[in-house]
Amino acid sequence: MAMFDTHAHLTDPPLYSDLAGVIARAAAAGISLMAVPSTDQATSQQALDLARRFPDMVLAAAGLHPGKVVAGSATALSWLADFLAGGGFSAVGETGLDARIPSADLDAQEQVFRLHAGLAREAGLPLIVHVRGAYDRVFRVLESMGRGGPGGVLHAFGGSTEMAARLFRLGFLRGVGGGVTRPQAVKLRDAIRRTPLDAMVLETDSPYIATAQTPAGQVEPRDIVQVRDTIAQLQGVPTSEVEARTTAAARALFRLETP
Ligand SMILES: [Zn+2]
Repeated sequence: MAMFDTHAHLTDPPLYSDLAGVIARAAAAGISLMAVPSTDQATSQQALDLARRFPDMVLAAAGLHPGKVVAGSATALSWLADFLAGGGFSAVGETGLDARIPSADLDAQEQVFRLHAGLAREAGLPLIVHVRGAYDRVFRVLESMGRGGPGGVLHAFGGSTEMAARLFRLGFLRGVGGGVTRPQAVKLRDAIRRTPLDAMVLETDSPYIATAQTPAGQVEPRDIVQVRDTIAQLQGVPTSEVEARTTAAARALFRLETP
């Protein structure tokens, strides 16, 4: 079973300028699928174009990243509904709440997050959630939708095992990326040691999140092998088991049929 990188910003530099190379290296590393999250309208369109260009390997998500939300964003979001209605997208995001952005407008972020979650539910697509701090608000939004909510990925989730378990009951899996490969990430590594493999998915957040061996800004999907190997080490299981179970979980989340 090959790997599924559930969070690769292929629309962003430097990945976008060497797409053919990036995708060839990803395939050589054992990746069969990549989901491309978006941060705004332009990258949503680019992600869709990529999914059409590489239909066997790339899945597109449409969304407005919380880092790009300002007061009034919610009223200017009709493009998102239009994009989703047009088809071709496999997920909604990334969206969520980021309290660590200087001068973050959390009320505006929450409004936009609610809109994304509602659209994902309507479209029957998973939600790609970005959350730093503001966990209480994220719980409030997702728990208000209950089990009928969209489900999705808690991308690069830094919260505790208990928080992840609470969201797992609402259909959210924990996205595990480069952070776990750093030996000094003691709390995160402890959380991942105790998280069932079926409750997590692999991701790189390439090119952004550094691994122990690759600096931020230079990460590619192929670096996912470092994430896979770290999880295998932490849990004391073969790498093939990490691949098989996380890929199966990710395929189910993205509503793909079992090969
Ligand atoms: Zn991202």
